[in-house]
Parts: sequence; C-alpha cells; structure tokens
Amino acid sequence: MIDYTFSKEYFVQVIRDLIVLAENRKEYFTELDSAIGDGDHGMNLSIGFREVNAHIEEWKELPIKDFYKNVGKALLDKVGGSSGPLYGSFFMKFGLPIKTKGADEGATFEEMIQMFESGIEVIKKRGKSTTGEKTMLDTFVPALEAMKAEFEAGTDAKEAMAKVVEAGKAGLESTRNIVATKGRAMRLGERAIGHLDPGAASAAEIIEVFYLAM
Ligand code: ADP
Ligand code: MG
Repeated sequence: MIDYTFSKEYFVQVIRDLIVLAENRKEYFTELDSAIGDGDHGMNLSIGFREVNAHIEEWKELPIKDFYKNVGKALLDKVGGSSGPLYGSFFMKFGLPIKTKGADEGATFEEMIQMFESGIEVIKKRGKSTTGEKTMLDTFVPALEAMKAEFEAGTDAKEAMAKVVEAGKAGLESTRNIVATKGRAMRLGERAIGHLDPGAASAAEIIEVFYLAM
C-alpha cells in the first residue's frame, strides 16, 4: 500500500500543465493524426484547453470533482471529433470517486487509482472500445494496471507513477503495429500499420503530466 496524498493544489497544477501541453504539442499530435486520421487532434486539444484556460481561475476554487467536471464539460462542449467527447467524459467522471471531499481536500494514491478507473471506464463505454483497437485506451489501460500493481507492491508513490508513465508509453508504442478497429484510422486498414495512434500519444503525455506535477 502506498501512503501518499495528492493535494488539491496538485490537481489544479495538473490542469495548468495540460493547458501548456495542449499548446506545445499541438503540431505533433496533428502530425500523427495527419498520417492516419484527419489531422485535427492537436487542434482539438488546443481548442478544448484554451476554453479551460479561460475559466481555470474561477473553477480552481471548487472541490476536485466539480473542477474536473467543468474541465470535462468544456472539452465536451467545445471540441468536435471523438477525442473531445472521450477526454471530456474522462475528466467529467474523474473526480466522482471522491465526490464527498471539500474544496481544499486532495486524494490518496488509492483514490487516484479509482479516479483513473472511473475516467477510463467511461471512455470504454462511450467509445464502445477496448484495448488492442489502436486508441487512447492502449495507453490508459496498461497505465491503470501498472498503477494498481505498484500500489499493491507498496512502491514509493513517485517511483510508482514513473512506472505508470512507462507502462503508458509502452502501450502507446504497441499501437504502432496494429490496425485500428475504432476511430477514423479504421478506414485505412493495414495502411495504419507503422503509425502511432494520435490519441494514444496524447494520453501518454497527459499521464506524464500527472507524474511530473507530483
Ligand atoms: P477525430 O478522430 O474525430 O478526428 P481526434 O483526431 O481528436 O478526433 O482524436 C482521434 C483519437 O481518438 C484516436 O487517435 C483515438 O485514440 C481516439 N478514439 C477515436 N475513437 C475512439 C473510440 N471509439 N474509443 C477510444 N478512443 C477513440
Ligand atoms: Mg482527428
């Protein structure tokens, strides 16, 4: 068991860092999506997180659940395409396991696992998708599994999250050599082989932000 608290400030910082990530990596995510999709993944995230940026100062005073719910809603409302609703739902449901916490309260490592699980479950549900389909789930699911395993093993929290990042990146890498059975890349069939999935790439960097903000 890992004894660690992710503070409220941490959760605010994560969103601030995601706003920066969406700008800095816009071209890269777009480039990946240009190869096997329609080239808008970077733009989609940028539009969504610019909207979040416009409201973060007012939302950051809310409990984590409501703060992240607003973030999710912004992505859901402002972003077209599949990633907007999927990431939107992820953040909307992220804080649900800690819904009774007050505005200044953080989360334990165990709660963090439940939060990721809550967000990932809704991606699966809304996307009607699972691993091995060349999507963001190929990053998220192994990362969550690593989180659970490291928690059980009692690894130090920061070290555990470093392993979670590695598991997510390995998952991302696994998307390179498979065909897509969900999303736009599906239409390419075998031609998608050799290319990373853009959503799996952004998911890996999002998870890394959760680690680096610790
Ligand atoms: P769009 O595909 O509508 O242009 P984006 O380019 O922003 O939207 O996002 C594409 C990413 O969304 C894909 O790379 C994939 O990771 C993810 N994605 C698409 N459909 C699904 C799905 N059904 N389940 C999970 N992830 C999906
Ligand atoms: Mg796209």
